[in-house]
Amino acid sequence: PSLPLYSPARVRELLTLHGLRPTKSLGQNFLIDGNILRAIAEAGGAAPGVPVLEIGPGLGVLTREVASRGALVTALEKDERLKPVLADTLAGTGVHVIWGDALDFDYAGLPPGTRVIANLPYYITGILLSRFMQAPQILSATVLVQKEVAQRLAAKPGQDAYGFLSALAALYGSVKHVRDVPKGAFLPAPDVTSSVVRLDFDRDRPLPDPALVSFIDAALHHRRKTLRNNLRLIGHEGTPVDAAIAGAGLRADVRAEDVALDDLQAVARSLGVVR
Ligand code: SAM
Repeated sequence: PSLPLYSPARVRELLTLHGLRPTKSLGQNFLIDGNILRAIAEAGGAAPGVPVLEIGPGLGVLTREVASRGALVTALEKDERLKPVLADTLAGTGVHVIWGDALDFDYAGLPPGTRVIANLPYYITGILLSRFMQAPQILSATVLVQKEVAQRLAAKPGQDAYGFLSALAALYGSVKHVRDVPKGAFLPAPDVTSSVVRLDFDRDRPLPDPALVSFIDAALHHRRKTLRNNLRLIGHEGTPVDAAIAGAGLRADVRAEDVALDDLQAVARSLGVVR
């Protein structure tokens, strides 16, 4: 009777067998906890016939869990040293592996209704989330990220973690915290606690104007400074700014961290940044 693929002993054995050392610069922290794998697959909506994209299958542990639920899995991996491992662990699963960099991938070419399910490489989490948001084919992303990132994604105005990432997530849809994941669920153990979050993208909304996204980024750039100050740094000042801030029902000296997405949009419209 063999141990499950995700057991620490099997994961160590696979690494030794293939002469591999997890690479820190690629964010390689492999999952070794069956309950967490099942929770991610479940929360991510892995079900018969659902197209799923996984970024960074690693040893194929989460991939197998998702595929076992009948989802149609495409897995995108950059580290070609893992070729013989995935040839072994994904044999007979029907998973389509693409070898390449997630930063160069064309997400708009995915089948409509795609759900992302992944334990993301932490060094590119933010940029990948924004790529997912911008691809109308992707309906949701259920991802394992650093807890601090999860908090930023889900934060509301006035909360410590509120900033650009929170406003961006709200602009595209909604965020749900699924569960925290302790360091011990990974091999090697990372330095910090992680969380599973699910982002749902509201595809009935038109994709936001890139000018609005840059405006929100700048408006929240120094979170603890006033909105007025942040806007001055991108060339908006004087009476029009005072009028726009007042027009949105905000105090003249409101801090960036207290301004909700709707109000930022109102200010952007009033300044002519977007229609
Ligand atoms: N899914 C596996 C698991 O949960 O055990 C591994 C997750 S590990 C946190 C991140 C994975 O992303 C690694 O397999 C790593 O090689 C891969 N990766 C890192 N950078 C990547 C990139 N730019 N494009 C695609 N995959 C990448």
